[in-house]
Amino acid sequence: MALDYNSLLLAIGFSGICLVMTMLGSWAVTRSENTLLTWGIGAIVTVVSIFAYSSYVWKPTLFAGTLAISSLIVAIAILFAAARQFRSGILRISDIIPITLLTLVVIVGTFAVGYDGVSFIMFNLAIGISMWGCAAEYWRARAEAPAVICGLSVLYTITGASFFLCAFVLIQDFRPVLGHAPQNWAEDLSLAIVIGGMSGIGALSLSLHYSRLARRHRTEARTDPLTGLLNRRAFFEAHGRYAVAPGSAVLLFDLDNFKAINDRYGHAVGDMVLNIFTEELTALRHTGDCCARLGGEEFVMFKATCLPEQAQSIAEQIRKGFAGRIVETEKGLLRGTVSVGIAIATGTRSDIDTLLREADHALYDAKNTGRDRVVVSSYLQAV
Ligand code: GH3
Ligand code: MG
Ligand code: MG
Repeated sequence: MALDYNSLLLAIGFSGICLVMTMLGSWAVTRSENTLLTWGIGAIVTVVSIFAYSSYVWKPTLFAGTLAISSLIVAIAILFAAARQFRSGILRISDIIPITLLTLVVIVGTFAVGYDGVSFIMFNLAIGISMWGCAAEYWRARAEAPAVICGLSVLYTITGASFFLCAFVLIQDFRPVLGHAPQNWAEDLSLAIVIGGMSGIGALSLSLHYSRLARRHRTEARTDPLTGLLNRRAFFEAHGRYAVAPGSAVLLFDLDNFKAINDRYGHAVGDMVLNIFTEELTALRHTGDCCARLGGEEFVMFKATCLPEQAQSIAEQIRKGFAGRIVETEKGLLRGTVSVGIAIATGTRSDIDTLLREADHALYDAKNTGRDRVVVSSYLQAV
């Protein structure tokens, strides 16, 4: 038995409710990614519109028609805000309120004064434009997850196009007053597209939400929370697995007498000093260099290609830069220093562990010869 138009509308409405519950349930569990909440609210208003439209198709009253039209305009505006929020990280409803209100007044007003044929044309055009707006917003953010976001963009484009088609057919067979919901092949086609589009958009939005969360967790697991540098694990993931090329340099930094700074000025000041050192370290980081906090007050800079004199010069600049930073504390002014050990890979098959060991020996020499200095390892790694 084939389902009629209105039964299909009701089916979309009920599947929309399930989608909303899945969205809001997923958001409630994680609570960290609010785009999904905005999307869920947009989906709730869409569901309201679908039921109102179904009621209008069954019995064309002014109330049902007005509710259906206005709620879908508001729903797509919210979905557009969600798309922007996904791209920019900020929910800015105020930007879209004027245009949404204007659209509502014009389209609902035209409907209310009896020109429903004209109103449905404008309505379909407005929904099509908003959906293409959503498609454009996701398209601009596609670098984050190309396959999923392009899929989302395509679904919004196709669904939007189906509304343009409805408008086109109504314009071709122009009747300013209809007295009921438009009925033509474009409406049937659009309904079929909306059924596929809505579930596809819902599934892809959910998958985007989880992929973003997974990426955030991955980043957190690789980042030192105090300094924002890579942590030890991330450093070894990046450089620990492969042989390092000849000419690679490891600059190993260890802040001097840091325990005494903590003891005298407090842990919070110690943290501040660690961040100040990080500023000096990253100021001298060039493209391709990798900086990490290996633990406590120990940092590393890995340079893929570097002459010993260059490595020494950069280490000196960092050392001097840090020594020049005066920190104001409640207990007076404080100046930290750092010792540096450098190792350069000269063989064809060195590994990061060997380089770090050599840099550590050089650092040990720097500590033993008075601290606040740079020592280059004398050990050359042969093949
Ligand atoms: P040296 O000049 O020989 O390197 O002496 P040091 O005092 O710097 O070295 P030591 O290893 O004795 O002390 C390191 C201190 O770093 C001990 C620890 O409490 C402190 N530390 C480790 N992690 C942190 C942190 O995240 N914040 C703060 N404030 N202190 C930390
Ligand atoms: Mg140390
Ligand atoms: Mg130290």
